[in-house]
Amino acid sequence: MTPPGTDPAPPLTRLPDGTIKQVNPFTGTKVWTLPGRGARPLGLDRPAPQPLDPSERDRHCAFCVGRMVETTPEIARVVRDGPSWQEVRGLLADQLDDSVPQFRLFTNLFEILSYDYWHLTHGYEPTPESRAHRTAYLSTPAGREHVAALARIRMRAGGTSGADAGPLTEGDLEREAVALFAGNHQVVAARRHYADGATNDSQHAFSGTLTPEEHWQYTRFTIAAVRDLYRDNPYARYVSVFQNWMRSAGASFDHLHKQLVAIDEPGAELEREVERVRSQPDFFARWGREYADAQGLVIARTPTAVAFAGVGHRYPSVEVHTSATSRRPWELDDDEVRDFSDLLHACHAATGSDVPTNEEWHHCPPPLDLPVPLRAVVKWRVSTLGGFEGATRIYVTTMDPWTVRERTVTRLRGLADRGVVSGRITVD
Ligand SMILES: [Zn+2]
Repeated sequence: MTPPGTDPAPPLTRLPDGTIKQVNPFTGTKVWTLPGRGARPLGLDRPAPQPLDPSERDRHCAFCVGRMVETTPEIARVVRDGPSWQEVRGLLADQLDDSVPQFRLFTNLFEILSYDYWHLTHGYEPTPESRAHRTAYLSTPAGREHVAALARIRMRAGGTSGADAGPLTEGDLEREAVALFAGNHQVVAARRHYADGATNDSQHAFSGTLTPEEHWQYTRFTIAAVRDLYRDNPYARYVSVFQNWMRSAGASFDHLHKQLVAIDEPGAELEREVERVRSQPDFFARWGREYADAQGLVIARTPTAVAFAGVGHRYPSVEVHTSATSRRPWELDDDEVRDFSDLLHACHAATGSDVPTNEEWHHCPPPLDLPVPLRAVVKWRVSTLGGFEGATRIYVTTMDPWTVRERTVTRLRGLADRGVVSGRITVD
């Protein structure tokens, strides 16, 4: 079987000396796993754990809930009251400590595509909700102080004069405030920096230490924010969702968060997929679930989603695909989101908090009507790309997909026995 429009080589080829050549069925990325290298440990550099200072609790980084005025004004938060979860929107600076946010949504202080980019290139304007929030926020002294402090940081970083003026000029404050409230690059941050009961700084709270229910809320909240970015910005052609875990995987802080970035192009990967899906509507099922099944790469399943070791990624990877290919992420029902979230959570838990990872989501954006499912790829950042990769565009990994599967399944069975992953999951 060969996917249409890609290299004629099959996704997986085992050579006589044990070399495994991989070609990603979706992207065409070429990866080689060389014999002898796969036996190496993950190669992680673990510094000696240091005890935590209890007085620093919830104040370890700018995403911590004890330092909420270091992030931009909050767009929304998820709060928990026993079994019920609620979304609260548009709080003012004085209200930030009135409830405990389990997850917070706010604009990235330094956006990849700035407000000016959207406004000047496309004529994008803030929504009435964003304007109303800005006006209300700036109407209190605490809100003004918060926004002015962030405005100064942005102006200094951008080399704009006037950043150190006594009080900021009204014009400077207004200009920066517009961008702070109408950013198209957003962050969803989780509450904990360290796991509950952590005593040293190696015990980070990551996706795998959330409960399955918390992870479900994290996923739902993220999906709703993606929907809103498309709704509020008619020029957004795609919303990229990703989670960099640990600084060595590109994160600013070792504090669990996802980023959502609206862009005005669909991106090269989606353009390739569109071509293939048009000629082969069952493309994702065939080269995702069915191929993984045939090759013995499936890790676990829920009723409407499957997790398997990915083929042809620059780093050893696990993929989670929903089977609902006809609907966008925000059109999935609660059970389908839960099925997707539970598997993603379980894969992170099995990967472990000490492995730096990139979680990348893929989905079908609104203008397209194609059978492209919501799926996530979790990449283990355990190797460093070098000159060979740059020169050849062939990536060498230390672990073949079967080894990734075996490591994940083994750890997942232990986690399932301890009841820390969802009971909806069947481990293969
Ligand atoms: Zn933190």
